[in-house]
Order: sequence, then structure tokens, then C-alpha cells
Amino acid sequence: MDTKEKGLNTICTHVGEVKDNAYKGSISPLYMSTSYAFDDVDIKRYPRYFNTPNQEALCKKIAALEHTEAALIFGSGMAAISTTLLAFLKSGDHVVLQQTLYGGTYHLITEEFNKFGIEYSFTQGGRLEDFEDLVKENTKVIYIETPSNPLLTITDLSGISEIARKHGLISMIDNTFASPVNQNPFDYGIDVVIHSATKYMGGHSDICAGAVASTQKYIAPIFNLAKNLGGSLSDYTVWLLERSMKTMGIRVRAQNENAQRMAEYLASHDDIRKVYYPGLPNHPDHAIAKSQMKGFGGMLSFELKENLDALQFQKALGLIKSSMSLAGVESTVLSPALTSHALLGAKERERQGISDALIRFSVGIEEPEDLIADIEEALTKVKKLTK
Ligand code: PLP
Repeated sequence: MDTKEKGLNTICTHVGEVKDNAYKGSISPLYMSTSYAFDDVDIKRYPRYFNTPNQEALCKKIAALEHTEAALIFGSGMAAISTTLLAFLKSGDHVVLQQTLYGGTYHLITEEFNKFGIEYSFTQGGRLEDFEDLVKENTKVIYIETPSNPLLTITDLSGISEIARKHGLISMIDNTFASPVNQNPFDYGIDVVIHSATKYMGGHSDICAGAVASTQKYIAPIFNLAKNLGGSLSDYTVWLLERSMKTMGIRVRAQNENAQRMAEYLASHDDIRKVYYPGLPNHPDHAIAKSQMKGFGGMLSFELKENLDALQFQKALGLIKSSMSLAGVESTVLSPALTSHALLGAKERERQGISDALIRFSVGIEEPEDLIADIEEALTKVKKLTK
């Protein structure tokens, strides 16, 4: 199938199917073998070589969705991120990273990179000059996350890719928050696209996985390191992930719509101080988001008015659960200051603009009226507590 001619939901449903030639079943058969007879001594199939039938097939779907030549699937988003960065960085090299990154990525850099002799610099802001000013002679990689976690800042993809080309750097993006449904960074010149597939690709809060998509040229060194580090995903989970991804387009588009509705509702609410959502016209980067995203995503953050306790509010919610992770079909909230960004420390959080009152909201596919009713009830309870 020529994937370029097919629409999103057709790719989600059909690309990367394993054909059931024996029984003509409608879904991909699952191959759990860890040992395959040699057809040709050059082709060695083995799960940790990322080339079992189910792995190879799902990689085709991910590559088609991100408009790249190739992809790899990992055991977690962090396995994908660490392997990809380390595939292109060696002792003495330098990497420029966006200031507001997923907490786990920040820890990987700050806790591990010194051991490998890899230098790093975090930007002070998200403007293109903030990135270019940090480029040095030994810089090899520029790494961004847009929309970012948890403040939903937007970085200009074409601008970053221009800086990378100008200085001969490899540009990488964590595209988890957008998902391939809403943003295809490769079309804007970004070299390597990474996902925590635990999030929108999985979508049901029951799979932990990661993915990397790029040209064959860049996937080759990532694969070489990946098979040595050993971060492959079990074929059973690969098979489950394929099933989940069939509905990714439908899920994420519904989440986009719900998040826009919730952002508008929260922004006009007297008890809410601030809403962070790129789909709102008053978001500082709304114009850039509009130019490079097909939808604004299912993630938003907000702050309650000063007199209302953010933690009590989350405890008072019923339908919306306070929980770790994001992007499931069910709506969830969390306090980044207490969870994903707790280890940054108060000073670094303040520098990044992550207040203790900030609540990150992963909007699911429920009816928006029910989500609004849940929030109204929780606000009423919290207001009673503060009287
Ligand atoms: N990138 C982003 C934006 C995330 O939110 C997360 C996890 O929350 C990760 C990467 C890491 O993914 P995983 O937990 O699958 O290792």
C-alpha cells in the first residue's frame, strides 16, 4: 500500500498489519518466538534485534504516521530517548536542550551525562535565539519538546531545523504530547522524532512503550546501540500496541475537541487564574502552534485562584482521577510540582514557571458536560473548605 496516499485513520487501521496467510484472520497473528530458523544466515530474527514479525510490522505503521522512512519500537519512552541521544553523543560532545522537558528526560541528562563525559546546556527560554546562542563547536544535537510538559510551550519546528542545518547538528523532538495525529515534525525538517508510546499511541493506560522515527540513515546507528543496550518491547505488548493504534486517530481527535472545550470553559471561569493551552488565541505561541499542528492536543494545564487549594481540588474530583501518566481515554489530573517535576527542586521549578498551584489536565474522551459537572462540584467543595 502506498501510505502517502492514505488518510490518517486508514494508516492507523491498516498499515503494518501482519498478514494471516494461514487462516486469513482479520487481525495480525502474534508471533511470540524468541528463536527463528535461519532462512538465510544474514537474517537473524530475535526480539532484541528489533526484527520479529510483529515488531517490524508495527514499525511500518509508526513510520507511515510520522512520514519517515523507518521506525523502531522500545520498551519505554525513556528507553527510546536514552538510546537515541546516546547513539549520537560521545564523550566530549555537547547537546543543547530545551528548558522545559519531561522530568525523566531532565534526570537522564543531569544525573547520567556527566558519567559519559557528555556536555549539555539547557535554554533559558523557548525563543530560537535561546537555542542558537548555546551552540558551541562541539555541539552535535539539539533536542526539543513541543508542546512541552507541563506548560504547553510551543517551539518553532522550522526554526529549530534551520539552526540544526546551519550548524550541522542533528535535531530531535519528543513528540509525545502532540502525537503523530496532531504534529509531524519530520515535515518541518526535524531529523529524529521520539515518542513515549505509553501515552497517545497506547491510549488506554495499559501499555508502556517508546518509539523513534526517522530516515534510514539515522535509524541505523540508533538500532546498532539499541540492540546492545537491549531496550526492546515484548511481542505481546507490540501486538497490543498495534491494536491500540488502530483507533489513535479517532481517540486523539476526540481528545483535541474535548480539550479545546475544557480550555475555553476554564479560561472563562471566575475561579481559574490561568489556563495554558496552545489552542487558546491568547496563548503566546498560538500562531506558531496553528502553523505547525493539525490539532492542539488533549493536554492543558491550569491554576486555580490563589485562595483555592489545588490539592484539595484534585481530591474533590470524582470522575476525573488524580493519577500519574497521561493521554488515556479517561481524563486525569496531577500536580507537576508533586509528581513529574518534584525532583527538579523548588528553585528550578520556579525558574521554569511551574508553580505549586499548577494542575496538569489530560483530557479524555468522556462527554465534556460530565467533565464540567465534575469540576464544578469539586470547586464548590473546595470553596466550602476555604470559608
Ligand atoms: N516524554 C514525555 C513527554 C512524557 O510525558 C513521558 C512520560 O510521562 C516520557 C517521555 C517517558 O515515557 P515512558 O514513561 O514511556 O518511559
